[in-house]
Amino acid sequence: MGGGDEIPQGNKLLPVPHSTASYWRSDPHWLDEYRSTEDLPSQADIVIISTGIAGVSTAYHLLNRKDNDDTPQPSILLLEARQVCSGTTGRNGGHIKKLPSTIVDLIQSLGSTAAGEVIKFIRANIYAVKHVIENEKIEAQGELRRSFDVSLHEEDAIEVKAEFERQLKSGFPLTEDLQYVGEQFAERITSIRGAKCGLSTVVLSFWPYKFVIQLLERVLNKGTANLQTNTPVTAIETDDDEGYTIYTEREKLRTATIVFATNGYTAGLLPQYRDVITPTKATASHITVPPGQNAPYLSNTYNIRYTKDRVDYLNPRPDGSIVVGGGKWTYEKERELWYDVHDDSTLIEPARHYFDELMQRHFRGWEDSGAETESVWTGIQGVTKDGAPHIGKVPGSSGQYILAGYNGGGNAFAFLAGHAIARMIREGITFEETGIPICLKTTQARLDVSKA
Ligand SMILES: Cc1cc2nc3c(=O)[nH]c(=O)nc-3n(C[C@H](O)[C@H](O)[C@H](O)COP(=O)(O)OP(=O)(O)OC[C@H]3O[C@@H](n4cnc5c(N)ncnc54)[C@H](O)[C@@H]3O)c2cc1C
Repeated sequence: MGGGDEIPQGNKLLPVPHSTASYWRSDPHWLDEYRSTEDLPSQADIVIISTGIAGVSTAYHLLNRKDNDDTPQPSILLLEARQVCSGTTGRNGGHIKKLPSTIVDLIQSLGSTAAGEVIKFIRANIYAVKHVIENEKIEAQGELRRSFDVSLHEEDAIEVKAEFERQLKSGFPLTEDLQYVGEQFAERITSIRGAKCGLSTVVLSFWPYKFVIQLLERVLNKGTANLQTNTPVTAIETDDDEGYTIYTEREKLRTATIVFATNGYTAGLLPQYRDVITPTKATASHITVPPGQNAPYLSNTYNIRYTKDRVDYLNPRPDGSIVVGGGKWTYEKERELWYDVHDDSTLIEPARHYFDELMQRHFRGWEDSGAETESVWTGIQGVTKDGAPHIGKVPGSSGQYILAGYNGGGNAFAFLAGHAIARMIREGITFEETGIPICLKTTQARLDVSKA
C-alpha cells in the first residue's frame, strides 16, 4: 500500500484454498505446513511473503553470508498463505530452460544486447541451481540434460533453421550451446514421430518442490528465520516511522523491510502492479506407464512445436514417467478461463483430457505403452505486459522489494533474482550493482507504460 494514512484493504488476490493436487507435491515434506512458533512474531527485520523459489532463494541468500562477514544475521519471517511451495513453483514443468527456438522473439522484443544479457542470466541460473543442489546436498533429481525444441511443421522447421543460422553468423550468446539436427536424423535423435528438425540446448531438469523445501530446511537451520505457513497476508500499511504494519488472517506485525515474492498474486498487496503483473492460469500433467507395460526411456526433455504458436513441454522423470504441460490452444480463445484468473483449485476444462495418449501420439516406441494420465493440475503464473519480470526496489518505496512476473518461466530467473534482492538488502547496493540485466529492473516508467 502507498501513503501513511491509507486504511488497509482486503486482499482480493489471495491464493485460494484446496488447490489442485500436483504430482510434485504428492509426497509432502515434514515442513509442508510447519510453523516455527505457535504465535506470529510481532516484529522481524525482514519479512518475505512467499515460500516459492523466489522467496526461499531470497531467504537463503540473505543468510548465506560471506565468511568474513561478522555482522549479526537478520531475523527473517517467511509468511506463506498456504503450504510451503504450494504456488506455481510446486506445480510447474520442472525445467530451467531458455527455448532456443524463441530466442528470435526475445531479440525482437528486447533488442540484441538485452536479449543476450537475459540469455546469459538464464544460463547462470541453470548452473547456480545445479551448484546449490550439490553444495547443500539437496535431493531434487537435479540433472543437466539436453532439451530439444522439435518442429513438426514444415514451415516452422524452415524458419527455425534460418533463424538459427542467422544467430550463428551474428555470434549471439548461447549459440555455442545450441545443436541443430535436420530432417534426416531428427526423428531418430529426438524419438518424436514426424520431427522435421530439432534445436537443442543445455537445461536443468529438477524437482522444484523438493528443491525449494530442502533449501528452506537449510535456511531454518541457520537459526534466525521463522516460517509461518497458512498465514495469508491481507494488507500492508506504511507507518509514521517509514516501517510497515503487515496484516495477516492471524495477528499483525511490524517490519522495516518487505520482500514481495508473490508472483501472480502481487497486485493484491501492491496495487500499483495491477495490470502490470496479471495472474494467468496454466496446466500440466503427469503421465505414467502401467506396471507390466514398457516404453523406451527418454533422457532428453522437449518442447514440441506442432506449429509456431502451439507448443507443449515434456520433462521425463528418472522413473520413466513424464511431466507434460501446455495445451493452451485448447482454451486460449476462452480468456475468462485463464486470463486474470488466480484460482488454481479447478482444472481448465477444455484441457482436462488433452494429455491423454499424448505420448502414444508422438513418441516412437510408445504406441502400445498403455501410458495414461495419472494427474492433471493447474497453477497461477504472473504475466507482464512487456514480457520481462519485475525485480528490484518497489518504485517510490523505502524497504519494499519485489521479484515477480516471470511469464511462465520463473525457474529460469528466480534463484539469482533472489540472490540480487538479498544483496540489495544486506549490502545496500543498487540494482545496477547486482549485475542483473537492466531490462528486468522494476521502474516507475515500466509501471506507467504497462498501464497506458
Ligand atoms: C503449469 C506451469 C508450468 C510451468 N513450467 C515452468 C517451467 O518448466 N520452467 C519455468 O521456468 N517456469 C515454469 N513455470 C513458471 C514457474 O512455475 C513460475 O514462474 C515460478 O514458479 C514462480 O516462482 P515464485 O516463487 O515467484 O512464485 P510462486 O511459486 O507462485 O510463489 C508465490 C508464493 O506466494 C504465496 N503468496 C501469494 N500471495 C500471498 C499472500 N498475500 N500472503 C502469503 N503468501 C502469499 C503463494 O501461496 C505462493 O506460495 C510454469 C508455470 C505453470 C503454471
